[in-house]
Amino acid sequence: MTSLIMIFGATGDLAHRKLFPSLYRLFERGRLNKYAVIGVARRSMSNDDFQQSVKDSVLAALGNKDNLDEFASHFYYQSHDVADSSSYAELNKLAHEIDENYQLEGNRIFYLAMAPEFFGPIALHLKSDGLTNVKGYKRLVIEKPFGHDLESAKELNKQIRTAFSEEEVYRIDHYLGKEMVRNIEVIRFANAIFEPLWNNRYISNIQITSSETLGVEERGRYYETSGALRDMLQNHMMQMVALLAMEPPIKLTTDEIRSEKVRVFRSLRTVVGDEVNDYFVRGQYGEGMMADKSVPAYRDEQMVDKESNTETFVAGKVMIDNFRWAGVPFYIRTGKRMAAKSTKIVVQFKDIPMNLYYQTEKMLNPNLLVIHIQPEEGITLHLNAKKAGGHLDAQEVKLSFANTGINAMNTPEGYEKLLYDCMRGDATNFTHWDEVAYSWAFVDKISEVWEGTKAEFPNYASGSMGPQAAEELLEKDGFFWWPVTDLDVDNCK
Ligand code: NAD
Repeated sequence: MTSLIMIFGATGDLAHRKLFPSLYRLFERGRLNKYAVIGVARRSMSNDDFQQSVKDSVLAALGNKDNLDEFASHFYYQSHDVADSSSYAELNKLAHEIDENYQLEGNRIFYLAMAPEFFGPIALHLKSDGLTNVKGYKRLVIEKPFGHDLESAKELNKQIRTAFSEEEVYRIDHYLGKEMVRNIEVIRFANAIFEPLWNNRYISNIQITSSETLGVEERGRYYETSGALRDMLQNHMMQMVALLAMEPPIKLTTDEIRSEKVRVFRSLRTVVGDEVNDYFVRGQYGEGMMADKSVPAYRDEQMVDKESNTETFVAGKVMIDNFRWAGVPFYIRTGKRMAAKSTKIVVQFKDIPMNLYYQTEKMLNPNLLVIHIQPEEGITLHLNAKKAGGHLDAQEVKLSFANTGINAMNTPEGYEKLLYDCMRGDATNFTHWDEVAYSWAFVDKISEVWEGTKAEFPNYASGSMGPQAAEELLEKDGFFWWPVTDLDVDNCK
């Protein structure tokens, strides 16, 4: 691939922890043919110091590498004021020189790894100060959050679209870089045993959990303006719902896949007003014990209001009112300071029409298909089979594929895949504006209700799986959350 990559926010956390190591991995795999990187950030720094910081970040993430000097020699640094046109003029001059030296064919990727309030102004400056005027391709990679609600997302989109066409905008949802999220499509559309069952005749409910053990850490200031609904549900959780629910695309092209995902968003049952609290539950962590250590309540974290109404947990029942999914709840939950770090999808199949084994030891277990997204990666299928030696007793057996060993060692990190996709011009695993807009419209109805009423927080202890109301959400439909740790690949042998 031939590109000049400009990283805005090159001294930040994301650049150091994710972007530099991911670029190195692409380099190591021979996927960067001709490349150069300009790191852009506020503070002044020499090229040498910047290259050292790039090497340090690769060392910390991947250990010592022989060709690090060669890799880092393609990195340049530019001290920059995002609001000042003369900074952009200097940047453009440097970009032209580097483009010429490395023969980068005028291809430019602008990666905005900065606070979201800068996204719009930077995009406008890139256009007005001539940086987007190139003979090769120009692409904008933009981090989350994309707006704060539908209104602000529209405004941001308007600013961005003055400089870049929709095809040139790569909105990152890093869940779409995860190996097993990308695998959802293959599991569904490449297996004759699943696709015929993938509908309301055979599936009783689908559960998606993304739980973290960490609290808000030092992100209190940002999180206070966001909360779990905006930080996790609007983007990552809804993307997983769309991938699970979409119709088979007629071809595996970006446009076809995206249009099927958009059709799912268009089929979402919008819940408004009083209904919101029937379908969605919010929570905020109180103090509690995590790994034998006591941890503070959210309201006692740094930069958090003592009376904060911000949710650190959300659970919901999402209904997709179309022919395939009518009547099948998609239960989603995500939260901080929960008992386990786990992202899993559980597809629960309906019971068979007549249970011949009912009279034996116990009732049959429902068939489950578990997709393990993180930290472990794999698939488990829960079946019933005859108990060895017994008469005709059935017992649960679990067929597991754990993506470990050779396969996992070669599994590229999410950001590596997304950067590579962007260089290749493949936007399939980035979110289209229509997906963003529909998803905000859905979430705005919930936040409107929650922001207007004070919640009784805290309502779950750190180290638990969330508030009691989240359990009741399923109980009233006759279901329960499958305990995520019991479903771990290691427990499924
Ligand atoms: P950060 O605060 O660590 O870094 C911000 C960067 O922006 C720094 O390089 C800083 O120098 C630069 N900057 C700030 N103000 C500037 C100005 N006026 N002019 C020029 N440069 C300026 O932030 P981060 O954690 O790296 O996050 C960046 C973006 O990525 C955010 O949108 C965040 O939501 C998103 N994100 C981060 C992570 C993560 O793991 N850190 C994960 C997902 C998304």
